[in-house]
Amino acid sequence: MIADISRLSLDYKLCEKTFRGSIYAVGVGLHSGAKTKISFHPAPVGTGIVFRRVDVTDKNNEIKASYENVVDTRLCTCYGNAEGVRVSTAEHVMAALYAYGVTNAYIDVQGPEVPIMDGSAQDFAFLFDCVGLIEQNAPLKAVRIKKEVVFEDGKGAVVSLKPAEKGLTIDFDIEFAAGAIGHQSLVFDLTQKSFKKEIAYARTFAQLQEIEMLRSMGLCHGGSLENAIVVNGESIMNPEGLRHQTEFVRHKILDAIGDLGQAGLPIIGSFQGVRSGHFHTNALLRTLFADSSAYEIIDLNETIEENESAIAVA
Ligand SMILES: [Zn+2]
Repeated sequence: MIADISRLSLDYKLCEKTFRGSIYAVGVGLHSGAKTKISFHPAPVGTGIVFRRVDVTDKNNEIKASYENVVDTRLCTCYGNAEGVRVSTAEHVMAALYAYGVTNAYIDVQGPEVPIMDGSAQDFAFLFDCVGLIEQNAPLKAVRIKKEVVFEDGKGAVVSLKPAEKGLTIDFDIEFAAGAIGHQSLVFDLTQKSFKKEIAYARTFAQLQEIEMLRSMGLCHGGSLENAIVVNGESIMNPEGLRHQTEFVRHKILDAIGDLGQAGLPIIGSFQGVRSGHFHTNALLRTLFADSSAYEIIDLNETIEENESAIAVA
């Protein structure tokens, strides 16, 4: 079956990628608290990242993870299709997919939420390491940022994308009144290796009073100290403490990577987020793709050839 989507001899150095086989995990939904299964499957060239709600059988259950299909960003990133079928809390798995360079995949979920796992992306990264990836016979393309695009919400949150020589850099800055979080900033150059080492383990976080409010609204039933850092003013309520002193800003970087995955292709550029969240990153991508002079779609193999000839000339 895999032979249908990949050939042994590849014409390109940088190719689209998919999973070598299928793999699954079981976890709880953050809001429902219900046990739910997520499974990852190979997909042909050109598919992109497509969620399939396997519990929905009476209408189109496929939802492409594209910036245009983001329908809610209040507590997480939620994608929806034209028939109103949704999948939420997709950002952590999207971050792992982006970091691993997975271009094509079907992701089956049994309900409206991707399981929260431990609140980070490390379980997804582990699954991808276990199942492995294969290169597909299609050149890898990228979105290269040609000029700066900015989105501001007028309330202190700013996001931007600027041109860069290569790859994706994330520069994030947060400031919270809660003393346990405070002010944190970090600049991160994304590679699969750096993601696994520096970002994948960073858990989502919430303040105690937010959780109490969400619970009163019927949300966050699956949230616990096993899948989030809970902050109460100066204190961290998790008995094991933090995984890193700057785990909070690292998680914001994880979220930004996942949300930038909505572009559908890797981004060559430098992202900056100041006190921003899912809504802002989505709005930034909508701003970017509305301005055709701000970006171009390039074949990364041609970039390699150009660099190689530049080296030959030097
Ligand atoms: Zn998150």
